[in-house]
Amino acid sequence: MQLNKEIINKIQSLISSPKKIAIITHVNPDGDALGSSLALWGMLKRDGHDVTVITPNEFPSFLAWMPDSKDIVVYNQKHDKADDIIKKADIIFCLDFNDIKRMEKIAETYLKSSAVKFLVDHHISPSLFTDFTISDTNTSSTSELVYDLIIALNKKHLLNKEIAECLYVGIVTDTGSFSYACNYSKTYLIISELFKLGIDGENIHRLVYDTFSENRMRLLGYCLSEKLKVFKEYNTAYISLTNEDLIKFKYNTGDSEGIVNYALSVEGISMAALFIERGDHIKVSLRSKGDVQVNEIARKYYDGGGHYNAAGGYSYVSMEETLSEFEKIISDK
Ligand code: 5GP
Ligand code: MN
Repeated sequence: MQLNKEIINKIQSLISSPKKIAIITHVNPDGDALGSSLALWGMLKRDGHDVTVITPNEFPSFLAWMPDSKDIVVYNQKHDKADDIIKKADIIFCLDFNDIKRMEKIAETYLKSSAVKFLVDHHISPSLFTDFTISDTNTSSTSELVYDLIIALNKKHLLNKEIAECLYVGIVTDTGSFSYACNYSKTYLIISELFKLGIDGENIHRLVYDTFSENRMRLLGYCLSEKLKVFKEYNTAYISLTNEDLIKFKYNTGDSEGIVNYALSVEGISMAALFIERGDHIKVSLRSKGDVQVNEIARKYYDGGGHYNAAGGYSYVSMEETLSEFEKIISDK
């Protein structure tokens, strides 16, 4: 994308001397949140800045191999350190989310910080919680936007294999291994540039997708055989997981990643949902195919939002009530 010249000039003048920079991702960071953040971090570090990536909570273990991920400051583990970094930052980049709520408890310190704040994101209707917004919904991922940003800043020479790996993870995971949000020729030109930097795409795919723990694999099997409910008449399917289910399979962060897509893979199904009990609320994930829009449903019923075909939010009533409400929503659709 042609990035806004004024914003690029602003970043260029800010980073023309060494700066303290914080990069913040959304809660439950996924491959794109982590990939885009670690890539931007890599470039800015090589450019001579003092940079830290802060995530609100833990990231999934299948991303733990990513370059520099061990240096990420996880807010719910080290909030004093994270607060200090945010307070002292000259610049803050918010990556891969469109609403301040998605940084959860970090928001309080963030709002007090006098840093110059930038958003780089690809979700629709970003709310105004930064000084400058780089937003494009017609792109595969925030990682792709970070690539565009690095080029626009004239920092292509700082790209290396590690940065390319991070960007590749972001693009692969946010497009479901090139199966959605990727009908853009430009995405593939960028992928080609990443390969020129020496990445091993096949190995990255194995590291991300072929490293299920036995418990995670069995949880998936259980979801498909015991918990999948299909409503052919409404072209909808859902899976629900209670606290008890999670304990039974020794649930770890990231173990439910991708499960909702299996419900969507059933023939004739154009909308799928996953409901997971998380403490006092239920996390809702919605996915759809084609012109079935789920971010509206997430906004209207689940205090959430997202993309046209992938969205999420929360339910604050019991699982039983959540499921019967959902069945009513789909029957009224
Ligand atoms: P997931 O189902 O993987 O948690 O989220 C899918 C997509 O929905 C995310 O990439 C994000 O765009 C959006 N999303 C998920 N949860 C929320 C939420 O609580 N609020 C908003 N605004 N978007 C969400
Ligand atoms: Mn993303």
